[in-house]
Amino acid sequence: MKVLITRLQRYSTNTNDMLQKVLLSLFLVLFLISCKKDPSADEITFKFIQLNDVYEIAPLSGGQYGGLSRVAHVRDSIMNVNPNTFMFMAGDFLNPSLLGTIKVDGERLLGKQMIEVMNAMDFDLVTFGNHEFDLDEEFLQKRLNESEFQWITSNIYQVSEDGNKPFHIQKEDTLAIPESFILSIDDGNGGMVSIGFLSVTLPSNPKEYVHYEDVFSSASRTYESLKDEVDMVMGLTHLAVDQDQELAKQLPDIPFIMGGHEHNSMLVKEGNTLISKADANAKTIYIHTFTYNTKTKELKIDSKLFPIDEKIASQTEVAAIINKWTGLLDVKIKEVIDDPSEVIYRSDIPLDGTDSANRGIQTNLGDLITEAMAWSYDNEVDAALVNGGSIRVDDMLPNDLSSMDVFRILPFGGSILKVKLKGKLLTEVLDFGKANRGTGAYLQRYNIGVDPDSGVWLIGGNKIDPKKTYTVAFSDFLLKGYDIPFLTPENSDILKVYVPNEEEKAKDICKAIILYLKSLTTES
Ligand SMILES: [Zn+2]
Repeated sequence: MKVLITRLQRYSTNTNDMLQKVLLSLFLVLFLISCKKDPSADEITFKFIQLNDVYEIAPLSGGQYGGLSRVAHVRDSIMNVNPNTFMFMAGDFLNPSLLGTIKVDGERLLGKQMIEVMNAMDFDLVTFGNHEFDLDEEFLQKRLNESEFQWITSNIYQVSEDGNKPFHIQKEDTLAIPESFILSIDDGNGGMVSIGFLSVTLPSNPKEYVHYEDVFSSASRTYESLKDEVDMVMGLTHLAVDQDQELAKQLPDIPFIMGGHEHNSMLVKEGNTLISKADANAKTIYIHTFTYNTKTKELKIDSKLFPIDEKIASQTEVAAIINKWTGLLDVKIKEVIDDPSEVIYRSDIPLDGTDSANRGIQTNLGDLITEAMAWSYDNEVDAALVNGGSIRVDDMLPNDLSSMDVFRILPFGGSILKVKLKGKLLTEVLDFGKANRGTGAYLQRYNIGVDPDSGVWLIGGNKIDPKKTYTVAFSDFLLKGYDIPFLTPENSDILKVYVPNEEEKAKDICKAIILYLKSLTTES
């Protein structure tokens, strides 16, 4: 009898779950129908679904938000009501991600997982974000070749021996990525509208194989080439919002720009132009409903920010692809930690994992990482240093931090070395980090500060003595000399490099941080 009750209870929970999801889908449909508003014969209604800055294919924060299979479900539901529904990605999706660093058949995924998911989701138009060019040329080309959706860029070209040329997709034929794209929408009742798209990306991750043309002149050239061919020109951009606003000032007849890069949602009006950005990692998506009067040429835009959370069902086909990849990730992570989703740290102020902060200032996240590095050697070090470029999540972290988040912060992992070095070299290292502010060689520090009056480096509040020997915890990457060329074990001012063994906390930097954060929670 007891068993039966339990079963019944379980059944009813499942039914409730299902009921909730059905009701939600129903609500979604009703919501969409209500938005349709009885269009007159001259009006055509169409919908754009906007995503930007999506690095993760699976939901984040223990499933609380995001997840591309949920987005696919929302898109399908909308499309069932209005077939003229189109989906856009406004840049930044191939990198960084933890999954992207995992090796399959000896090669890092580097966005392969994202392309596979996006192919299944049937995106209509995507553009480059700055992070697409984190990938080396060879890998970006592989991702382009794997993609089955339409790309566009008006200002980015590939550097070649014969000069700058459009990036291309190599399938049976070579498909050049165009500077513009025209979307023709037909409502089946004689209503038609054609929309020209231009697309520009900010040049913030310069690479030798990439040529960036000026954002504004490229946009205006493309606008001029499009405007007489179409009913209206819109933007799909990846810029800082003040650049989007400047673009709107320079091209005031553009009614609408879908952008990205900021990671937080916004809807900004600049003159006659509406600029929209959704939250990163599909925490939200934008659903834009357009009503265009083909007679009066009037365009109405109704933009709704739509949260993607655990109440939304998953589209099965996309979910299956995501599960295949996350299953791989779980296996790799469980080699290091038993429960990757366990919340190990709660903070009122979110930890700042953004690239711009960690490559330019001492951050609260940099504090925690370097404290953990010192802790991994029982604080028997004078200081700890990690390069800001190791921090790859480029996002604000959730207030409830899980073990998985730590792996997302430092996806390349590595160990922590205990190094004895002369004060002279330590000062040179710190100066080098400071001089390279804005790049990955900028250093996050523990127990090292700057004297506000003289500007000299202090260790534990005292000036660094060039002749004295200090013990400093370094990430092993830093001692390879990639970021700081003279910082290698061969340098004569390095007296000893201690490499931790398998049993020590310092062996794995992610594990060290997880254990350190857990120790803080137990103490308080
Ligand atoms: Zn970006």
